[in-house]
Amino acid sequence: MSEPLVIVGNGMAAMKLVEELVRRALGRYAIAVVGDEPRLPYNRVLLSSVLAREVSHGDIELKPAGWWRERGVTLLYGHRAATIDPAIRRVRLAGGATLPYGRLVLATGSQPIRLSVPGMDLPGVMTFRDLSDVAAIEKAAANKARAVVIGGGLLGLEAAYGLAKAGAQVSVVHLMDRLMERQLDARAAAMLKQAVEARGIAVYLRAETVAVRGRARAEAVALADGRALDADLVVVAAGIRPNTDLARTADLGLGRGIVVDDQLRTSRPGIYAIGECAEHRGVCYGLVEPAYEQARVLAAHLAGDKAEYAGSVLATNLKVSGVDVFSAGDFMGAPGTEQIVFSDAGLRTYKKLVVANGRLAGAVLFGDTADGLWYLDLIRSGAPIDALREHLVFGRALAERHGNAKRAA
Ligand SMILES: Cc1cc2nc3c(=O)[nH]c(=O)nc-3n(C[C@H](O)[C@H](O)[C@H](O)COP(=O)(O)OP(=O)(O)OC[C@H]3O[C@@H](n4cnc5c(N)ncnc54)[C@H](O)[C@@H]3O)c2cc1C
Repeated sequence: MSEPLVIVGNGMAAMKLVEELVRRALGRYAIAVVGDEPRLPYNRVLLSSVLAREVSHGDIELKPAGWWRERGVTLLYGHRAATIDPAIRRVRLAGGATLPYGRLVLATGSQPIRLSVPGMDLPGVMTFRDLSDVAAIEKAAANKARAVVIGGGLLGLEAAYGLAKAGAQVSVVHLMDRLMERQLDARAAAMLKQAVEARGIAVYLRAETVAVRGRARAEAVALADGRALDADLVVVAAGIRPNTDLARTADLGLGRGIVVDDQLRTSRPGIYAIGECAEHRGVCYGLVEPAYEQARVLAAHLAGDKAEYAGSVLATNLKVSGVDVFSAGDFMGAPGTEQIVFSDAGLRTYKKLVVANGRLAGAVLFGDTADGLWYLDLIRSGAPIDALREHLVFGRALAERHGNAKRAA
């Protein structure tokens, strides 16, 4: 008989795990997926494109209902898992039903952080995490609304762009002195600010939100320097926090997220965690590629193969049409590294490659990001770049042609 495997969370990590498991170990487990969102799993990364009306709600579904059925997977969406009893290996759902498990995987993702300032509970203050958020933002953004986005990271900028495209008057307030400071150096961030402003979005840097003001609903965002920005809606995009409530009911080891080892095992036998809810070697990732890498390793482990997750090299792509930004690895350049920089203000192009010990360690690209994935491959593989270095900054075609010629000579 197949061993019961319960996956909690019907997001992107869960989807990838099921896909890999049915490929590697079809029939070995009786798989049930429990998710609290009232719909089939969808591509969360594309929510920004839904908001910007570049794709429709239906376009982002990951697999149709039939796909799950045909593979014998029980998909329980619209159900919240409330508690875990590890002693008898059961998950209890919010409605009271229980599910027995032999193995349990937590893939509960994260939730947006709400700032601890007055006014966060006012109607009109929203977050940007799921399809119901997008529906609420779309509704509030109609009629030339004044929108203030708190947070100038990837999510905040994508929300701002979507809102501006929907016809809202948008301002972004950001605590730091540059946009996307976790992905971009000062020069790329300055170019990004210009490009964002050119799309009619006002950007306020070093702007600390101290309150959202309003009587019955949000009316303004108050900043620490005394300024107040009028707002009909406020979108808070100020970071995420791993969902660990369920893990707490099983007394699992927690840091910021659910602590896992290189096989994605938690502190309790038979319970695993992957995706944004997991903390591996002290790191909680907030991007989809690490979640996929973890899902692949866990599927191999559950299929009885040897596999190890050693951490991920991060890469970011901003999804704002016409603003091409890419960054990966150690893009700032730790002490002792070298930098190769190409910049053309006229073409609005900037490239910085960071080299450490004859290998590519990081890259920031603004304007021309066509070679981003090639640079990412070089960073991940750690391959020596000596033969490519002279033309590396000009991209793959040129660098490889000259590299091959050099090797042949
Ligand atoms: C607007 C937006 C744009 C993004 N853009 C990018 C991008 O360009 N590149 C990138 O790499 N990443 C991007 N991300 C991040 C990416 O979407 C996440 O890294 C990815 O979705 C993480 O997958 P996950 O399965 O861990 O979590 P999720 O996809 O969040 O799935 C977790 C699911 O579990 C459910 N759940 C939680 N607790 C319970 C419970 N107790 N019972 C039942 N269900 C539960 C949640 O409701 C959710 O549906 C973006 C995110 C957003 C919101």
